[in-house]
Amino acid sequence: MMKIIQTPDALKAALQNESGTVGFVPTMGALHSGHRTLIERSRRENDVVVVSIFVNPTQFLEGEDLGSYPRRKEADEKICELSKVDYLFYPEAASMYARDEAGITAPDVRGYILEGRSRPGHFDGVLTVVMKLLNIVNPTRAYFGKKDAQQLMLISEMVRSFFMDVEIVAMDTVREDDGLALSSRNVYLSSEERKEALKISFSLKRAGKLIMQNIKASDRIMAEIHAILEPLEVEYVAVVNRRFEPIEHVEIDNTIILVEAVVGKTRLLDNIWI
Ligand code: AMP
Repeated sequence: MMKIIQTPDALKAALQNESGTVGFVPTMGALHSGHRTLIERSRRENDVVVVSIFVNPTQFLEGEDLGSYPRRKEADEKICELSKVDYLFYPEAASMYARDEAGITAPDVRGYILEGRSRPGHFDGVLTVVMKLLNIVNPTRAYFGKKDAQQLMLISEMVRSFFMDVEIVAMDTVREDDGLALSSRNVYLSSEERKEALKISFSLKRAGKLIMQNIKASDRIMAEIHAILEPLEVEYVAVVNRRFEPIEHVEIDNTIILVEAVVGKTRLLDNIWI
Protein backbone atom coordinates (compact mmCIF):
# COMPACT_ATOMS: atom_id res chain seq x y z
CA MET A 1 0.00 0.00 0.00
CA MET A 2 1.29 3.44 -0.93
CA LYS A 3 1.69 5.84 1.97
CA ILE A 4 1.03 9.52 1.51
CA ILE A 5 3.22 11.64 3.75
CA GLN A 6 3.01 15.37 4.33
CA THR A 7 5.93 16.47 6.44
CA PRO A 8 9.71 16.04 6.17
CA ASP A 9 9.92 14.63 9.72
CA ALA A 10 7.25 12.00 9.04
CA LEU A 11 8.97 10.90 5.83
CA LYS A 12 12.37 10.66 7.53
CA ALA A 13 10.85 8.60 10.33
CA ALA A 14 9.07 6.26 7.90
CA LEU A 15 12.20 5.73 5.80
CA GLN A 16 14.20 4.86 8.89
CA ASN A 17 12.20 1.65 9.16
CA GLU A 18 12.97 0.63 5.56
CA SER A 19 15.95 -1.32 4.34
CA GLY A 20 17.60 -1.70 0.94
CA THR A 21 18.07 0.84 -1.82
CA VAL A 22 15.88 3.91 -2.14
CA GLY A 23 14.95 5.45 -5.51
CA PHE A 24 13.63 9.00 -5.53
CA VAL A 25 11.72 10.94 -8.20
CA PRO A 26 11.14 14.62 -7.40
CA THR A 27 8.33 16.28 -9.38
CA MET A 28 5.94 19.23 -9.35
CA GLY A 29 2.96 16.97 -10.08
CA ALA A 30 0.44 17.01 -12.94
CA LEU A 31 2.15 13.73 -13.73
CA HIS A 32 2.45 12.53 -17.34
CA SER A 33 4.20 9.65 -19.13
CA GLY A 34 7.55 11.43 -18.81
CA HIS A 35 7.28 11.34 -15.03
CA ARG A 36 5.99 7.77 -15.26
CA THR A 37 9.09 6.48 -17.06
CA LEU A 38 11.24 7.95 -14.26
CA ILE A 39 9.05 6.34 -11.60
CA GLU A 40 8.96 2.98 -13.38
CA ARG A 41 12.73 2.88 -13.76
CA SER A 42 13.12 3.78 -10.11
CA ARG A 43 10.72 0.93 -9.28
CA ARG A 44 12.80 -1.55 -11.30
CA GLU A 45 16.09 -0.48 -9.77
CA ASN A 46 15.29 -0.01 -6.07
CA ASP A 47 13.71 -1.69 -3.06
CA VAL A 48 11.86 1.44 -1.95
CA VAL A 49 10.44 4.17 -4.23
CA VAL A 50 9.70 7.71 -3.09
CA VAL A 51 7.99 10.30 -5.32
CA SER A 52 7.63 13.90 -4.21
CA ILE A 53 5.08 16.35 -5.52
CA PHE A 54 5.89 19.89 -4.53
CA VAL A 55 5.25 23.03 -6.56
CA ASN A 56 8.30 24.74 -5.15
CA PRO A 57 7.59 28.47 -4.70
CA THR A 58 11.26 29.53 -4.61
CA GLN A 59 11.92 28.48 -8.20
CA PHE A 60 9.15 30.68 -9.61
CA LEU A 61 9.91 34.31 -10.37
CA GLU A 62 7.57 37.18 -9.63
CA GLY A 63 4.78 37.16 -12.23
CA GLU A 64 5.28 33.51 -13.24
CA ASP A 65 2.67 30.76 -13.06
CA LEU A 66 3.10 29.59 -9.44
CA GLY A 67 -0.59 30.24 -8.69
CA SER A 68 -1.94 28.65 -11.84
CA TYR A 69 0.54 25.75 -12.19
CA PRO A 70 -1.61 22.64 -12.82
CA ARG A 71 -2.42 20.75 -9.60
CA ARG A 72 -3.98 17.28 -9.94
CA LYS A 73 -3.76 15.63 -6.58
CA GLU A 74 -6.17 12.76 -7.14
CA ALA A 75 -4.99 11.77 -10.61
CA ASP A 76 -1.37 11.98 -9.46
CA GLU A 77 -2.08 9.70 -6.50
CA LYS A 78 -3.64 7.13 -8.85
CA ILE A 79 -0.66 7.21 -11.18
CA CYS A 80 1.75 6.75 -8.28
CA GLU A 81 -0.33 3.91 -6.85
CA LEU A 82 -0.46 2.13 -10.22
CA SER A 83 3.30 2.55 -10.60
CA LYS A 84 3.76 0.89 -7.18
CA VAL A 85 5.28 3.87 -5.45
CA ASP A 86 5.89 3.19 -1.74
CA TYR A 87 5.87 6.78 -0.45
CA LEU A 88 4.25 9.81 -2.02
CA PHE A 89 5.63 12.93 -0.34
CA TYR A 90 3.27 15.87 -0.57
CA PRO A 91 4.66 18.65 1.64
CA GLU A 92 3.29 22.12 2.27
CA ALA A 93 5.68 25.00 1.62
CA ALA A 94 5.60 25.91 5.34
CA SER A 95 7.12 22.55 6.29
CA MET A 96 9.88 22.87 3.69
CA TYR A 97 11.03 26.45 4.33
CA ALA A 98 11.78 28.60 7.35
CA ARG A 99 12.08 32.38 7.33
CA ASP A 100 15.51 33.94 6.72
CA GLU A 101 17.35 30.70 6.15
CA ALA A 102 20.42 29.62 4.19
CA GLY A 103 20.05 28.44 0.63
CA ILE A 104 22.03 27.10 -2.28
CA THR A 105 23.10 29.55 -4.98
CA ALA A 106 23.47 28.42 -8.56
CA PRO A 107 26.89 28.93 -10.20
CA ASP A 108 27.47 32.51 -11.40
CA VAL A 109 27.82 31.65 -15.07
CA ARG A 110 26.10 28.38 -15.82
CA GLY A 111 23.20 29.13 -13.49
CA TYR A 112 22.57 32.42 -15.28
CA ILE A 113 22.80 31.54 -18.97
CA LEU A 114 20.00 30.15 -21.15
CA GLU A 115 17.12 29.19 -18.84
CA GLY A 116 18.86 31.03 -16.01
CA ARG A 117 19.03 34.16 -18.12
CA SER A 118 15.33 34.00 -18.98
CA ARG A 119 14.56 33.24 -15.32
CA PRO A 120 17.30 34.77 -13.12
CA GLY A 121 17.35 33.09 -9.71
CA HIS A 122 15.24 30.14 -10.87
CA PHE A 123 18.09 27.67 -10.41
CA ASP A 124 18.85 28.94 -6.89
CA GLY A 125 15.33 27.82 -6.00
CA VAL A 126 15.70 24.52 -7.86
CA LEU A 127 19.02 23.64 -6.23
CA THR A 128 17.83 24.64 -2.78
CA VAL A 129 14.71 22.50 -2.94
CA VAL A 130 16.57 19.54 -4.46
CA MET A 131 19.18 19.76 -1.67
CA LYS A 132 16.38 19.77 0.91
CA LEU A 133 14.56 16.87 -0.74
CA LEU A 134 17.72 14.78 -1.11
CA ASN A 135 18.54 15.36 2.56
CA ILE A 136 15.04 14.31 3.62
CA VAL A 137 14.91 11.16 1.48
CA ASN A 138 18.62 10.28 1.45
CA PRO A 139 18.11 8.13 -1.66
CA THR A 140 20.53 5.70 -3.26
CA ARG A 141 19.48 7.03 -6.67
CA ALA A 142 17.53 10.07 -7.85
CA TYR A 143 15.93 10.26 -11.29
CA PHE A 144 15.79 13.37 -13.50
CA GLY A 145 14.76 14.08 -17.10
CA LYS A 146 17.16 15.23 -19.80
CA LYS A 147 14.40 17.54 -21.00
CA ASP A 148 15.46 19.92 -18.24
CA ALA A 149 19.08 19.57 -19.31
CA GLN A 150 20.49 22.62 -17.57
CA GLN A 151 18.72 21.67 -14.34
CA LEU A 152 20.11 18.13 -14.62
CA MET A 153 23.65 19.44 -15.17
CA LEU A 154 23.42 21.86 -12.22
CA ILE A 155 22.03 19.17 -9.91
CA SER A 156 24.73 16.66 -10.96
CA GLU A 157 27.41 19.24 -10.28
CA MET A 158 25.89 20.26 -6.94
CA VAL A 159 25.92 16.63 -5.82
CA ARG A 160 29.58 16.42 -6.79
CA SER A 161 30.50 19.80 -5.24
CA PHE A 162 28.88 18.94 -1.92
CA PHE A 163 30.19 15.34 -1.87
CA MET A 164 26.68 13.91 -1.62
CA ASP A 165 26.19 10.14 -1.75
CA VAL A 166 23.49 9.85 -4.36
CA GLU A 167 23.59 8.57 -7.90
CA ILE A 168 21.89 10.95 -10.35
CA VAL A 169 20.17 8.99 -13.12
CA ALA A 170 19.34 10.89 -16.35
CA MET A 171 16.36 9.80 -18.45
CA ASP A 172 15.56 10.50 -22.10
CA THR A 173 12.74 12.88 -22.97
CA VAL A 174 9.35 11.25 -23.51
CA ARG A 175 7.38 12.73 -26.42
CA GLU A 176 3.90 12.66 -27.92
CA ASP A 177 3.64 10.67 -31.16
CA ASP A 178 4.02 13.88 -33.14
CA GLY A 179 7.25 14.82 -31.36
CA LEU A 180 6.05 17.36 -28.79
CA ALA A 181 8.02 16.88 -25.57
CA LEU A 182 5.66 16.05 -22.71
CA SER A 183 5.40 18.80 -20.13
CA SER A 184 2.93 19.62 -17.37
CA ARG A 185 2.69 23.08 -18.95
CA ASN A 186 1.40 21.69 -22.29
CA VAL A 187 -2.12 21.95 -20.83
CA TYR A 188 -1.81 25.73 -21.25
CA LEU A 189 -1.64 25.37 -25.06
CA SER A 190 -4.69 25.94 -27.28
CA SER A 191 -4.97 23.58 -30.28
CA GLU A 192 -3.57 26.35 -32.53
CA GLU A 193 -0.65 26.92 -30.17
CA ARG A 194 0.00 23.22 -29.90
CA LYS A 195 0.48 23.09 -33.66
CA GLU A 196 2.93 25.99 -33.47
CA ALA A 197 4.75 24.26 -30.63
CA LEU A 198 5.56 21.32 -32.92
CA LYS A 199 8.06 23.55 -34.68
CA ILE A 200 10.34 23.19 -31.67
CA SER A 201 10.81 19.41 -31.77
CA PHE A 202 10.82 19.52 -35.56
CA SER A 203 13.67 22.05 -35.60
CA LEU A 204 15.74 19.83 -33.29
CA LYS A 205 15.04 16.76 -35.41
CA ARG A 206 16.23 18.73 -38.41
CA ALA A 207 19.40 19.69 -36.50
CA GLY A 208 20.01 15.98 -35.87
CA LYS A 209 19.66 15.29 -39.59
CA LEU A 210 22.14 18.02 -40.51
CA ILE A 211 24.66 16.52 -38.12
CA MET A 212 24.15 13.10 -39.70
CA GLN A 213 25.05 14.77 -43.01
CA ASN A 214 28.24 15.92 -41.31
CA ILE A 215 27.18 19.56 -41.00
CA LYS A 216 28.57 20.41 -37.60
CA ALA A 217 29.11 24.18 -37.50
CA SER A 218 27.01 25.51 -34.62
CA ASP A 219 26.20 28.74 -36.53
CA ARG A 220 24.76 26.86 -39.44
CA ILE A 221 22.71 24.55 -37.21
CA MET A 222 21.38 27.42 -35.09
CA ALA A 223 20.42 29.40 -38.22
CA GLU A 224 18.44 26.43 -39.52
CA ILE A 225 16.65 26.05 -36.17
CA HIS A 226 15.81 29.78 -36.08
CA ALA A 227 14.41 29.60 -39.62
CA ILE A 228 12.10 26.73 -38.68
CA LEU A 229 10.93 28.39 -35.45
CA GLU A 230 9.93 31.61 -37.25
CA PRO A 231 7.67 33.44 -36.27
CA LEU A 232 7.73 32.08 -32.70
CA GLU A 233 9.23 34.22 -29.94
CA VAL A 234 12.57 32.49 -29.37
CA GLU A 235 14.23 32.91 -25.96
CA TYR A 236 17.36 31.04 -26.99
CA VAL A 237 18.88 28.50 -29.33
CA ALA A 238 22.22 27.14 -28.17
CA VAL A 239 24.82 24.53 -28.97
CA VAL A 240 26.80 23.58 -25.85
CA ASN A 241 28.92 20.73 -24.58
CA ARG A 242 27.79 18.59 -21.65
CA ARG A 243 29.28 21.14 -19.24
CA PHE A 244 27.14 23.81 -20.89
CA GLU A 245 30.02 25.67 -22.47
CA PRO A 246 29.13 27.05 -25.92
CA ILE A 247 30.96 25.23 -28.73
CA GLU A 248 31.53 26.23 -32.34
CA HIS A 249 31.33 22.72 -33.71
CA VAL A 250 29.19 19.81 -32.67
CA GLU A 251 31.19 17.12 -30.87
CA ILE A 252 29.62 13.67 -31.12
CA ASP A 253 28.66 12.31 -27.67
CA ASN A 254 29.40 15.64 -26.01
CA THR A 255 26.82 18.10 -27.36
CA ILE A 256 23.39 19.34 -26.36
CA ILE A 257 21.36 21.57 -28.65
CA LEU A 258 18.74 23.54 -26.73
CA VAL A 259 15.73 25.61 -27.65
CA GLU A 260 13.36 27.70 -25.58
CA ALA A 261 10.46 29.40 -27.30
CA VAL A 262 7.35 31.11 -26.04
CA VAL A 263 4.12 29.87 -27.63
CA GLY A 264 1.19 32.09 -26.67
CA LYS A 265 2.13 32.73 -23.05
CA THR A 266 3.79 29.37 -22.46
CA ARG A 267 7.54 28.86 -22.29
CA LEU A 268 8.50 25.58 -23.88
CA LEU A 269 11.89 23.90 -23.52
CA ASP A 270 13.31 21.14 -25.63
CA ASN A 271 16.71 19.78 -26.53
CA ILE A 272 18.53 17.03 -28.33
CA TRP A 273 21.61 15.20 -27.03
CA ILE A 274 24.16 14.46 -29.73
P1 AMP B 1 8.58 18.58 -13.29
O1 AMP B 1 7.40 17.98 -12.60
O2 AMP B 1 8.24 19.26 -14.57
O3 AMP B 1 9.44 19.41 -12.36
O4 AMP B 1 9.49 17.37 -13.72
C1 AMP B 1 9.91 16.37 -12.80
C2 AMP B 1 10.97 15.51 -13.45
O5 AMP B 1 10.43 14.90 -14.63
C3 AMP B 1 12.19 16.32 -13.91
O6 AMP B 1 13.36 15.58 -13.65
C4 AMP B 1 11.94 16.47 -15.39
O7 AMP B 1 13.13 16.65 -16.13
C5 AMP B 1 11.26 15.17 -15.73
N1 AMP B 1 10.48 15.29 -16.97
C6 AMP B 1 9.62 16.30 -17.29
N2 AMP B 1 9.13 16.13 -18.54
C7 AMP B 1 9.71 14.99 -19.02
C8 AMP B 1 9.63 14.28 -20.26
N3 AMP B 1 8.84 14.69 -21.27
N4 AMP B 1 10.37 13.16 -20.40
C9 AMP B 1 11.17 12.73 -19.39
N5 AMP B 1 11.30 13.34 -18.20
C10 AMP B 1 10.57 14.47 -18.01
